[in-house]
Amino acid sequence: MNVLQQSVGILTGVGAQTLYRLEKLGIRVIQDLIFHLPLRYEDRTRVYPIRGLLVGMSALIVGRVEEIDILPRGRKSLVCKITDDTGVMTLKFFHFNANQHNILKPGTLISCFGEVRYGFGGLEIIHPEYQVLLNPEAQVTETSLRPVYPLTEGLSQTTLRKAVKQALMLCHQQPELLIDYLPEAFLTKRAYPSLADAITTLHAPDDPLVIQRLQSGNLPALKRLAFEELLAHHLRLSVSKNKAKHWQAPQFLGADTQAAAIAQFLTGLPFKLTGAQQRVIAEIEVDCQLPQPMMRLVQGDVGSGKTIVSAYAALLALTAGYQVAVMAPTELLAEQHLRNFSHWFKDFDIQIVFLTGQVKGKARKELLADLAEGRVGIIIGTHALFQETVTFKQLGLIIIDEQHRFGVNQRLALREKGQQGNLRPHQLVMTATPIPRTLAMLQYSDLDISIIDELPPGRQPIVTSVIPAERREDVIERINSWVKKRRQVYWVCTLIEESEVLECEAAEKTTELLTQALPEVRVALIHGRMKSAEKEAVMQAFKLHEVDLLVATTVIEVGVDVPNAGVMIIENPERLGLSQLHQLRGRVGRGSDDSYCLLMYQSPLSDIARQRLGILRDSNDGFVIAEKDLELRGPGEVMGTRQTGAMTFKIADLARDTDLLASIQQVGEHIFNQAPHAIQPLCDRWLGASTDYAEV
Ligand code: ADP
Ligand code: MG
Repeated sequence: MNVLQQSVGILTGVGAQTLYRLEKLGIRVIQDLIFHLPLRYEDRTRVYPIRGLLVGMSALIVGRVEEIDILPRGRKSLVCKITDDTGVMTLKFFHFNANQHNILKPGTLISCFGEVRYGFGGLEIIHPEYQVLLNPEAQVTETSLRPVYPLTEGLSQTTLRKAVKQALMLCHQQPELLIDYLPEAFLTKRAYPSLADAITTLHAPDDPLVIQRLQSGNLPALKRLAFEELLAHHLRLSVSKNKAKHWQAPQFLGADTQAAAIAQFLTGLPFKLTGAQQRVIAEIEVDCQLPQPMMRLVQGDVGSGKTIVSAYAALLALTAGYQVAVMAPTELLAEQHLRNFSHWFKDFDIQIVFLTGQVKGKARKELLADLAEGRVGIIIGTHALFQETVTFKQLGLIIIDEQHRFGVNQRLALREKGQQGNLRPHQLVMTATPIPRTLAMLQYSDLDISIIDELPPGRQPIVTSVIPAERREDVIERINSWVKKRRQVYWVCTLIEESEVLECEAAEKTTELLTQALPEVRVALIHGRMKSAEKEAVMQAFKLHEVDLLVATTVIEVGVDVPNAGVMIIENPERLGLSQLHQLRGRVGRGSDDSYCLLMYQSPLSDIARQRLGILRDSNDGFVIAEKDLELRGPGEVMGTRQTGAMTFKIADLARDTDLLASIQQVGEHIFNQAPHAIQPLCDRWLGASTDYAEV
């Protein structure tokens, strides 16, 4: 049997408990262990002189104990000063025992390892690992870097290191098992090492030059593995795209009534579709006439008018006799879609319903029955739509708005929803998060992409300024004059991401302050912890201009559309990503009037923060902003790592490995055409055999 596919249970030191813990990390067979790559390394290959230490580095030091004391001040601690020929530093223990006090007697020679920081008495290490050296000539350095692996509770680095070591040994006995699937020409051109070599190097780097290059992130072995991992992710999505072609989809072939309905729909609109909208609509129309499910992503900057495009697609489904589901990431946005769709379809005989967790009892039952029996044409809601036991009579189209809020896995899972027999509905997903082309290749390789690259006519660019919070008074004064001009204003309170509660509190406080400071201005508040009906009422009031100033948390980030609101103040913009700020700012500048965005930061602003806010001030183009952000901070922000389901990698780091992205698609195609048998093993290797990557 292939040893790579054997259980890790065959290794010494891996008992039932360890087996269970490894499984939690997705490690079942030897191969999983080999591809469980280190997060980082500890460098014990050299002893640092105390004078050469820098704060933040983890270092190996050899020195003699000079004095040792138990300090009762504050938290009780054992403090030990050590010295070598170059300087003195402190070792500090908060957990210690009497024995330790005895062992570390003045004059004792020890080696210690830990992260250096700056304390009261100069450089210190808290809770270092240490060892008493009986023989001054003792060997304390190691020949290779010590890998630090991702762990799970109860599993130690030592156990894992031992297991990996054995796995590598087994692997070396049969190197032919570790098959290199990357095209040879590609490996040669890049001067990449073989897979086996790369793996060995990463687990136990021993050459000083290698160590240096590894730490600077440009070691070929590292790059090679990162590339393979990115490729595996790309292949997973491409496979999903290919498989979709084997499914049947309803064909929205233009019935006689369809043309008339479209004409009626278009004449009912208060504006003419832009060229870009028409082009994207045509692409969708072609897709929906094919007997395979459409998988299309519509990318368009904020305010480019994606909603109407999706409504048009809905009309195609409806006139062909199919139902439509519209899913939005927030209730607020779902409610707005309900309003828009109801308005656009008001002269059509189409029942549109809204489903959230809050529709209950009899009403819910009736709604679900109407849906199951086909009386409902369009159902709009949040992702609850698909978590519920909702059944359709004939679902033909799923529209997913602001898809970046949903992760890759959620997207793949959604495919199966609404399947009837071997028929699958068409899918239209929309996002305003502009992703540089190279990244899109990776993240969206399962989708066809349409881009709305034109804003509706008459839009004026948003004038953005970056100002310190000290000028709050001036800003409040300006609100007064804007409101006198009948303009509406957003004031966005942002706080630390994780705490919605705190963010809401901050917004409540700000609302109070602004209400007092601006007696003639009608102020309202909206935040994520309000009941759906309350939020709806506030939004409605703002839309009807019964409210002048809307204080909000980032709940209004996506989608919200009130064209008369032309001014936005964003507090603490330095805490948000550029793409998110661009989204937020996109709430203004939606009409033909001039519009403003004030980024009100807390001083002092770091250099990089200043640069980032500058990008936003100087550009209104989401793609340009995303590209620049990518340069400055790496793609985490752009791809939304803070969102659930974003891609996570074992070794690839998109910020570091951006240069690899350009070749992913090409090599992926090569494998598809020349070596399709490699897809499965590559995905198994990097995504884990348990991952349902290929969509069953
Ligand atoms: P987004 O792409 O950000 O979702 P929306 O679909 O919310 O944008 O559209 C933004 C605003 O532009 C809405 O008020 C919408 O009615 C309006 N709009 C859409 N298309 C056009 C158009 N072709 N001409 C003028 N206004 C348009
Ligand atoms: Mg939108």
